Amino acid sequence: MKFVRFEINGSARQGILEGDQVHEIRGDMFGEFTPGTQTYPLSGVKLLAPCVPGKIVCVGLNYRDHAAEVNLPVPEEPVLFIKPGTTVIGPGDDILYPELSQEVDYEAELAVVIAKTARNIPLDQALDYVLGYTCANDVTARDLQRKDGQWTRAKSFDTFLPLGPYINTEVDPLNLKIELFLNGQMKQASNTGQMVFNVRELVSRMSQVMTLLPGDVLLTGTPRGIGQMQRGDRVEVKIEGLGTLHNQVK
Ligand code: MG
Repeated sequence: MKFVRFEINGSARQGILEGDQVHEIRGDMFGEFTPGTQTYPLSGVKLLAPCVPGKIVCVGLNYRDHAAEVNLPVPEEPVLFIKPGTTVIGPGDDILYPELSQEVDYEAELAVVIAKTARNIPLDQALDYVLGYTCANDVTARDLQRKDGQWTRAKSFDTFLPLGPYINTEVDPLNLKIELFLNGQMKQASNTGQMVFNVRELVSRMSQVMTLLPGDVLLTGTPRGIGQMQRGDRVEVKIEGLGTLHNQVK
């Protein structure tokens, strides 16, 4: 199933995407829902970020090919950080280049959407707590990341987390092709099988630190090929089974 959030007449709705049709649902994708009466053509609605996360828990240096690219050892434990909910934007929205930075990078990432309250979840049950997966771009002010020695400012500007276009509940997160295109040119190309800590391990380990709640989003790290974006650039994250997330830099 593919869940979307979309806007009609200024109000946010939830729906299920089938082909190029969006079937509205009544209720909540994280709880009980029933089919609504309305169906809209996908081309006639404005898609929003597919969920509204209370928190976004992220991992750094989680692809073997990316650790090699930046000449750093593969970490023994996941290095966690958090992005605030105010970073989230939807498909087609503008990434706003902040005046405080001169070096803004893209990072294509698989995003995990949590389905239900998760605390101290063992490895073999971790995927039971996942609603599904979507595309993310963990936009980063690289100069500020280096300057600050920690990552809060670099990762937290408004619009620094494009998410979408939909949450697919039926893909295998352990083996998905992941790509990023900048102005149509391929910049990142890898597979989620390259992760140091896979989705199962990340859900389990993160839930040992903090309670994960429905709608929370986990970012799973970026593969090799990171680089800068400039104002006016068009950036697309494409993940197998999860469609394409496109945004532009303003
Ligand atoms: Mg990242």
